[in-house]
Amino acid sequence: MEKETVSKNFIEQIIEKDLAEGHCETVCTRFPPEPNGYLHIGHAKSILLNYGLAQEYHGKFNMRFDDTNPTKEKVEFVESIKEDIKWLGADWEDRLFFASNYFEQMYECAVKLIKKGKAYVCDLNAEQIREYRGTLKEPGKNSPFRDRSVEENLELFENMKNGKYEDGERVLRAKIDMASPNINMRDPIIYRVARMTHHNTGDQWCIYPMYDFAHPIEDAIEGITHSICTLEFEDHRPLYDWVVRELEYPHPPKQIEFAKLYLTNVVTGKRYIRKLVEDGIVDGWDDPRLVSIAALKRRGFTPESIKMFMDLCGVSKSQSSVDYAMLEYCIREDLKLKKPRMMAVLDPIKLVIDNYPEGQIEYLDVDNNLENESLGKRKVPFCRELYIDREDFMEEPPRKYFRLFPGNEVRLMNAYFVKCESFIKDEDGNVTEIHCTYDPETKCGTGFTGRKVKGTIHWVAAPTALKAEVRLYENIIDEEKGVYNEDGSLNLNPNSLVILKECFVEPNLADAKAYDSFQFVRQGFFCVDAKDSKPDALVFNRIVSLKSSFKLPK
Ligand code: ATP
Ligand code: MG
Repeated sequence: MEKETVSKNFIEQIIEKDLAEGHCETVCTRFPPEPNGYLHIGHAKSILLNYGLAQEYHGKFNMRFDDTNPTKEKVEFVESIKEDIKWLGADWEDRLFFASNYFEQMYECAVKLIKKGKAYVCDLNAEQIREYRGTLKEPGKNSPFRDRSVEENLELFENMKNGKYEDGERVLRAKIDMASPNINMRDPIIYRVARMTHHNTGDQWCIYPMYDFAHPIEDAIEGITHSICTLEFEDHRPLYDWVVRELEYPHPPKQIEFAKLYLTNVVTGKRYIRKLVEDGIVDGWDDPRLVSIAALKRRGFTPESIKMFMDLCGVSKSQSSVDYAMLEYCIREDLKLKKPRMMAVLDPIKLVIDNYPEGQIEYLDVDNNLENESLGKRKVPFCRELYIDREDFMEEPPRKYFRLFPGNEVRLMNAYFVKCESFIKDEDGNVTEIHCTYDPETKCGTGFTGRKVKGTIHWVAAPTALKAEVRLYENIIDEEKGVYNEDGSLNLNPNSLVILKECFVEPNLADAKAYDSFQFVRQGFFCVDAKDSKPDALVFNRIVSLKSSFKLPK
């Protein structure tokens, strides 16, 4: 599906204006994750947006770990993030950076501000700083330490660096305006004392820069032209601009905010995903019910489908939630013509063709994808004993039920017509075996033009079938009943994972490898589970069913 570029989004408009007016010569964007969890679909939006803009304007895209806050950061996350971004197809070439490598430069920047009289060391404690800050309605009060001399500030700041103070004892603050209507501008803290071991710099530093100070410096050092972030930073933009202005960067980067991506019925947000993982509610960060990138990949989503989804979502400045069904639409569209259509029976019941020779197996020629001839054909074994899906038979059918029932004839997909002659029940009244007769004249593809049947069902030959496990997923949150319970816990959908252990698939799936995906006719798209599937014990994840009520917005 082609996206028609009728109009440029607001970020493209800003960039084109900046290029036209000479504010920048090329475009350089970045993706700056904090390595404190796995990436999720929201991050994918940011990655594809930043990378897409760099490509569109023949610029550069940098990858930068924003690792200035050592508390929650882990090397495990650094590796997973790199892998996820590569999988999405965003290429940072040789520009992989770590904000922590700029600590020295950030320190120098702070010194520069002190020398300009634009920063001071403050001895107020956290509570006092809060009190002095004022509120949205009331201006703040100047700190009694605000007018320290440059010399004193330089000395105290150096002492901070050299570990002469306890954690939290002193901070460095930007000297801006305690009466500013924007609370972020009321002499924000830019450096704090914190004895934490950093995953990259170890114990080299006991002072760490605050995000609002560090981020614009990181952008400026790398020559980022457009620093794209989400809306919650809008009120921080004046501080961003203040930092790059006071540090006198010749080509200051420009911050642009857009609305975060939210999906209905799914948990986005690292904090919530982490909680589900830590509480053992899901099977790790890549549990296929999650929308972390690792989970989407494991479930069987493709980078192309995610890209298509982001294109459909567009970029805007107003917050809204996107229907999960739109993501499902995109994966269906992506896989529809690319993947072979195989037969699999998820809830098997035996069907015996009484007039088919015992012991005989014939190999039927079957198109891999009727809508895409280039996928070729395959041989599918057919014989006397088959499995069909339990719901394709009814003892007493309602009106308009066109599948198997006593006396009715249906087409076995790609094979013959069969007529139900009888069935066997166990003591509990469950049907255990269906007996049919077939009509050899009705072989599929041999040009038979005789009578017609209304129903076509899929099947798998019993002796050659492979047993497989199939996992069906629903949204993890039951949003119709509310995302949260009264006690604040998430309202989990008890049916979010259904495991079917006794499924049968055609033998052509024997070589299916991790992440391979297929359509199982009439059932949906399925992907070999990368974690649990074994060559002799296949496990498939249902990516998405075939049917949808979703309509593409006009
Ligand atoms: P979360 O709140 O899920 O933990 P975060 O913003 O803390 O996300 P970061 O690692 O700091 O995660 O974010 C890296 C980049 O991804 C930032 O530029 C951020 O704005 C962007 N981003 C995060 N969540 C979304 C989202 N839902 N939609 C679009 N962009 C997002
Ligand atoms: Mg964050």
